Formats: sequence, structure tokens, C-alpha cells
Amino acid sequence: MRLKSRPHGEPTPENFEFATVSVPEPAEGQLLVRNHFMSVDPYMRGRMNDAKSYVPPFKLGEVMDGGSVGQVIRSRSPDFKEGEFVVAGTGGWREYAVAPAKHYQKADPSVGPLSAYLGVLGMPGMTAYVGLLDLGKPKAGDTVFVSAAAGAVGGVVGQIARIQGCRVVGSVGSDAKAKHLRDSLKFDAALNYKAAPIAESLAKACPDGIDVYFDNVGGDHLEAAIGLMNNHGRIVLCGSISGYNATAPTPGPRNMFLAVGKRLTLQGYIVSDHADRRADFLRDMGQWLREGKVSDVSTVVEGLDQAPGAFIGLLRGDNTGKMLVRLAKD
Ligand code: NDP
Repeated sequence: MRLKSRPHGEPTPENFEFATVSVPEPAEGQLLVRNHFMSVDPYMRGRMNDAKSYVPPFKLGEVMDGGSVGQVIRSRSPDFKEGEFVVAGTGGWREYAVAPAKHYQKADPSVGPLSAYLGVLGMPGMTAYVGLLDLGKPKAGDTVFVSAAAGAVGGVVGQIARIQGCRVVGSVGSDAKAKHLRDSLKFDAALNYKAAPIAESLAKACPDGIDVYFDNVGGDHLEAAIGLMNNHGRIVLCGSISGYNATAPTPGPRNMFLAVGKRLTLQGYIVSDHADRRADFLRDMGQWLREGKVSDVSTVVEGLDQAPGAFIGLLRGDNTGKMLVRLAKD
């Protein structure tokens, strides 16, 4: 799937182009991988723009890229055997990938389903783990608020916060997602930001204020959280999805001055800088999955031709849990 044109505002199917090409033979040190699942992620919206960021933009007329999990069909590396399952942050948006073996890590199907390596056991799970534990530093009894709480990162943040003994509040864009947070993910409170102004419903849901805000949304959510933060609170700046389709810069929180008097810490991060925590993450998350303390939730769309629709839907909130595209069934 190639980038045909750059979107202005919300992406449309016309920005993408489906192409059929022959699969090259892997060279020395490379793998040929048959992808079973590919990931669509909010950061890809930024890569569709021709703008400098922490990852380079997608190139016009070239195949897009992203997370993928699949099976090694041919190996020209001593580190991987044919038939093994592998995961990479690259190799997506195509059915077969030929790539350097060093881009891949093994995916052990006994720890969790293959698809989980793009969700709870993959990049979004690790984003939740590092961001909440290392930056948010939650303590038992803290109130933790997370936005986009039914999504891939947010759902895991809430579940880890519960494991830490925190009171967990989530915001989502529908009543059905709010019910999912309360009933399936065991959040203490969930609010639909489309049903009432976020500042009002958040104040009701957090009578004792907020100690940790895990921000996936920015904009009005960040402003509402700053207003309710307790002294010495931590705000983890993970993402700002409310502005990703904006065609002009969106206004910042108007109450930023409160961060001074409340002695807040606001810290941004990029998960790929924290590779040293991967082994801890896989150990803990594997255990939580086995113990049933964390659920693996995903929304799966079938077929590469449906990938643009899955991506556009992700930005609109069509997903509960990780949004995935299945590329092979066996
Ligand atoms: P999600 O699975 O959470 O999907 C995105 C969700 O965002 C949608 O389902 C939708 O849910 C919500 N959303 C869309 N528009 C708005 C809006 N205007 N206001 C509020 N919510 C909105 O995606 P991910 O879990 O993959 O990513 C979550 C966040 O984490 C993103 O901001 C992403 O950029 C960031 N991220 C950061 C990383 C890092 O290293 N810093 C790594 C990975 C992700 P709803 O129906 O509830 O509106």
C-alpha cells in the first residue's frame, strides 16, 4: 500500500494506492516474512505530512511502513529459522516483507497470540508500561486519569494503574466504550467526552483531584486535567491526537500557569528511546496476561485493501483496543 498523495486535514482513501509487485529474494542477512497482521497507528498520520519530526515522512509513491508480525518464509540469517514468528516496527502495509534480520525480534506464541505482539505485548503496551511506571510514577491510592482510554495504549495504562492499586478514571468518545472500561477493564470511573464538556465530567469523576494524568489527546483534555491536578502531580505527555488532523496549530492549555503553583511535572517521551526496559516489560506483561490481570483487546479489519479504511477509522475512534489489519489467516 503506497502513499499516493499527502492529506490536508483528515486522510481519505484517495491518499492511498494499492500496488501488486513481485517479492524479491532475500539477500545475505535478510529475511522474507509473510505478514499475518499489520498495525495502523496514530503516529502514521504525522508521517503522511512532509514535515520534520522524530520519524521521517513517508515518501510519495513509495510503500508505507509500520509495525508487522508474521512468519519467516526464508531466512538468510543465522539468528532466525524458517517457520519462526517475528515482529518488527517496520514491514507493515504489505503482505510479504524482505528486510534485514536485525529489524526483527522473535514473537513467542506461547506467551500470547501473535496479534498481541502489535498490542499489549508490543509497542503500544510498552508505551503504556514505560510512560505510566517510569514517568507517571503512580503510588497505591493515587488517582490516575487516562484519555483515549479504550485504545491500544490507554487501555493498558488503565489496567497497569489498577495493578498498582490506583483509582483509575478514563475518558472515551462513546457510551459503549465507557461501559467497556467499567465492565471489562475494571476502571473505577469512565466518561464520554462527547456527552458533556470534559472539564465538568472530569471534575465529577475525580472528587479528590488527579495525581497522574496520562495524556493521549492534548487540547481540552490536557487543560481539564491541569485544572484538577493535585500538588506535585505528574502529567505524562504521550500523544496529542485531538490535533493530528488539524490544518493549523491548535491552542495550548489556557491554564498552564497552574503548573507552577501546583509544582507539576510534565514530561514527553518516545517509547523507542526506552529499549532497555523491553525485557522487564515482556516479563511483567507476560505474567499479567497469564494471570488475567491485563486483557488483550483488539479490533481487527480483514485484508490489505482495507488498511486505509482501518487507519482512517482509528483516527475517528472506530477501534476498541488495538486497531489491526489481518493479512493472512493461517
Ligand atoms: P488508540 O488505539 O488510542 O486510537 C486512537 C483513539 O484516539 C481513537 O480510538 C479515539 O478514541 C481517540 N481520539 C481520536 N480523536 C480524538 C479527539 N479529538 N479527542 C479525544 N480522543 C480522540 O491509539 P494508540 O493507543 O495507538 O495511541 C494513543 C496515543 O498514544 C496517540 O496520541 C499516539 O500518538 C500516542 N503514542 C505515543 C507513543 C510515544 O512513544 N510517545 C507511542 C505510541 C502511541 P475515542 O473513541 O475514545 O475518541
